[in-house]
Amino acid sequence: MALEQLLKGFADFRLGYYREHLDLFERLASEGQSPRILIVACADARVDPGILTQTRPGDIFTVRNVAAMVPPAQFPPDTRHHGTSSAIEFAVRGLGVEHVVVLGHALCGGIGALVDGRDSVYADYDYLSTWTAIAQDVRDLAVRELSGRSREEITRAVEQAAVLNSLLNLMSFRWIAEKVAAGTLRLHGWWFNMTEGQLYAFNPATAAFEAVEGIEVAPTIVKGTALSAIKPERLLAAVAGKKPDF
Ligand SMILES: [Zn+2]
Repeated sequence: MALEQLLKGFADFRLGYYREHLDLFERLASEGQSPRILIVACADARVDPGILTQTRPGDIFTVRNVAAMVPPAQFPPDTRHHGTSSAIEFAVRGLGVEHVVVLGHALCGGIGALVDGRDSVYADYDYLSTWTAIAQDVRDLAVRELSGRSREEITRAVEQAAVLNSLLNLMSFRWIAEKVAAGTLRLHGWWFNMTEGQLYAFNPATAAFEAVEGIEVAPTIVKGTALSAIKPERLLAAVAGKKPDF
């Protein structure tokens, strides 16, 4: 896409969408934002959360990074530049969102690089592998558990297990764990398959991501959820054909 098309797009937006939603923009400008949902999504150009969910400005607070990952909390907090963690903190503590959705996706290049490891064409990049190493243990376990399976199967399993890893990392932030325990915050693990246009949500009862059929889906982590139920190990065991509980 040529850059001129972006400016053409903005001209269309200004004359069309902006005018049609002038009341909304005026309200958002005067009252500020008050989204009830935070989505942690991948930076991949094909999986725009606002388009996938058909939301309006102000509806969702979004963090996008490579592979939709949440790092574990740093405790005590340090002085490094925690872009993802600071956005999550602002959404949860500042805006008081009621839901956090971690949205993984099929054909994720970041997860692919993690799976390929030293064989990846991105292996000598300065930051990429350090970032995706957030799910290194999950990747290593998947490679062991799914030995002999195709790269596609292993990559898909890591894409989904990494979502669970991020949910567990979310629970390592004390202000998230406290809100979940109080029943004021719910966490969701989703995975989007762009080749079939289907959204999947993690079901702790089956240790699998299941196609979302209607407009209701149970959260993955709510008050009282045993974190052992969403361990990536369970999902990988299920993919490997073992009983989900072990
Ligand atoms: Zn991705």
